[in-house]
Amino acid sequence: MSDGFTFTLLGTDGVARRGEFHTPHGIVQTPAFMPVGTQGTVKAALHRDLEELGAEIILGNTYHLFLRPGDELIARRGGLHRFIGWTRPMLTDSGGFQIFSLAERRVIREEGAEFQSHLDGSRHTLTPERAVDIQSRLGADVAMVLDECMAYPATREAAAASMERSVRWAKRSRERLDALRASPPAHVPAANPAQAQFGIVQGGVFQDLRNDSADATVAIGFEGYAIGGLSVGEPTEVMYSITEETARRLPVERPRYLMGAGTPEDLVECVARGIDMFDCVMPTRNARNGQLFTSQGRINIKNARYAEDDRPLDPECGCYTCRHHSRAYLRHLYLAAEMTAGALNTLHNLSFYLDTMRRIRDAIAFGTFDNFRQGFLRSASRLSLDS
Ligand SMILES: [Zn+2]
Repeated sequence: MSDGFTFTLLGTDGVARRGEFHTPHGIVQTPAFMPVGTQGTVKAALHRDLEELGAEIILGNTYHLFLRPGDELIARRGGLHRFIGWTRPMLTDSGGFQIFSLAERRVIREEGAEFQSHLDGSRHTLTPERAVDIQSRLGADVAMVLDECMAYPATREAAAASMERSVRWAKRSRERLDALRASPPAHVPAANPAQAQFGIVQGGVFQDLRNDSADATVAIGFEGYAIGGLSVGEPTEVMYSITEETARRLPVERPRYLMGAGTPEDLVECVARGIDMFDCVMPTRNARNGQLFTSQGRINIKNARYAEDDRPLDPECGCYTCRHHSRAYLRHLYLAAEMTAGALNTLHNLSFYLDTMRRIRDAIAFGTFDNFRQGFLRSASRLSLDS
């Protein structure tokens, strides 16, 4: 196990968990939301703003950084933290999810995934071992194993075969990391020797496959465990149910990360089912499309009703955007395609997500999480103001 990574469960309220994990770059309070910094930057947000919003950890995408500027270049620049100038904790995905999204541009074999770059068509192979090496050069505090991400829907047979391959890949990933830790080869300089590695539970929407996957992944032994392959189009209730049953099967003393979820309601509902970590492009992507989350409902800022609306996006929000600008101005910036529209909207949406996580953590600490959850789901904020 990594000496530099420890998780402490500070308390529970029902199934919801309040904890923290320590990394070489600082402490992360859980439940935590990780803004997605695909290319070494959270789109339209400065690191300074993320720090002011209280983001304690961000996510980087291995697929994108491997293709451009390249993991070897980043390693020569001292690793991802130093290269991008972010001093707090980071997590990198394995690159698998993006590769599986390439559809006709990739072939999956037992050895690994062959794919064509979306940038220049160049051919590459990503094996479980190579995903470990690349992430070792990047040096984030948490690295993910390469797993096979299936499309939804899938037959039980396909889901079983894919899940079993993911388990074999997880084992290879751990063996590779153990070998790197024992004697790092010169061509894989570890930018962060204390890097933790998380295994990923797969199995589609079949709970028995999820159980088998969880047991096999835990048997390999990782610093934390993720639930992958959800939020890919299955009904929300199915996602919640698989999350609940799978989380229950994971070790109490390790962090649990639900990959790629979700809406603010998903965060609250999945914390209620025992999840500690989340990432999603929704707050940042929706912000750039003019869709804002507020305590009173979702706002589509291009709507004509905001043309002369002097109110802030969210009267209950203390972010820079809400303290300084009106809906009318934000609508104008959006329609004029000004870059500040994306920046100001992103700042607000991330503030809403991070503030929701803070309120979740406080509620768990005070033993009032169920009240908070009921209020959150009941409130008008679950409805679109524009519908
Ligand atoms: Zn705001």
